Amino acid sequence: MQSTDRYTRETVMEVRPWTDSLFSFRTTRDRGYRFVPGQFARIGVAGEAPEEKIWRAYSIASAAHDEHLEFFSVVVPGGAFTTRLARLKEGDPILVERKSYGFLTTERFAQGRDLWMLATGTGLAPFLSILHDFATWEQYDNLVLVQSVRTQAELAYEDLIRGFENSEYYAEYAHKLRYARIVTREAVPGAFRDRVTKLLASGVLEENVGLRLDLERSRIMLCGNPEMVEDSRTLLTGRGYTASRRGEPGHLAVENYW
Ligand code: NAP
Repeated sequence: MQSTDRYTRETVMEVRPWTDSLFSFRTTRDRGYRFVPGQFARIGVAGEAPEEKIWRAYSIASAAHDEHLEFFSVVVPGGAFTTRLARLKEGDPILVERKSYGFLTTERFAQGRDLWMLATGTGLAPFLSILHDFATWEQYDNLVLVQSVRTQAELAYEDLIRGFENSEYYAEYAHKLRYARIVTREAVPGAFRDRVTKLLASGVLEENVGLRLDLERSRIMLCGNPEMVEDSRTLLTGRGYTASRRGEPGHLAVENYW
């Protein structure tokens, strides 16, 4: 008999720590679970009281075609949810709401040749899912991924991002990807040190990735720190880029992380 619960009971398959406060985890995925790359899931873990559940939104980092779900998280100091989540281990139960959410998807855009994905911290997650979507590679001439973190150790998934060119499935498209790393609190060779907003305002980012932002060609996604999202949005709307709304495709799609 089909369960009528609004969530399914899943199992943690793997937990991968990146730093003391940054980790990824995989869960099983219900066969009926559907999402569009860029969307988020709502995840539940047991709370203090019996039967109590705590729910949080998490962008899905895994591909729509993967059999599992993958998530990327920080441990928020003192945060009830993430401190519990950080204690998860293989085999633990976890709940996943049946419905997926959010509008950080390429469906929000009309046309466009270049897709710019600007992420801070764990805001990288939805872009990993989008980058595993073959339709993205086929649809755009160029994909620009900017990953901004505080320290080098937080450059999670760098190997995966660099690995597209050696991947059996993605190698034929991989030349389309331009990847820029920003490490703001440490000097790292080959990485920028300035904030993404400064790099955008000065034109240094465009110069470095070898692509101009352009109203006709560029579609831009922002995800992560709410101040970064707001500051970037202000900067870009000042240049004529418009936010996508329901039924009204624009140039920008954004997701705040907290
Ligand atoms: P973060 O402060 O978001 O920094 C990540 C990157 O974004 C850094 O390179 C940072 O540069 C840059 N950045 C921050 N504000 C910016 C702005 N206005 N414009 C442009 N770039 C900006 O750090 P995080 O490590 O990802 O997260 C920090 C804390 O946020 C966590 O420890 C946690 O407490 C909280 N957080 C909460 C949640 C939640 O769900 N509640 C989720 C994620 C994070 P700078 O080094 O120059 O600041």
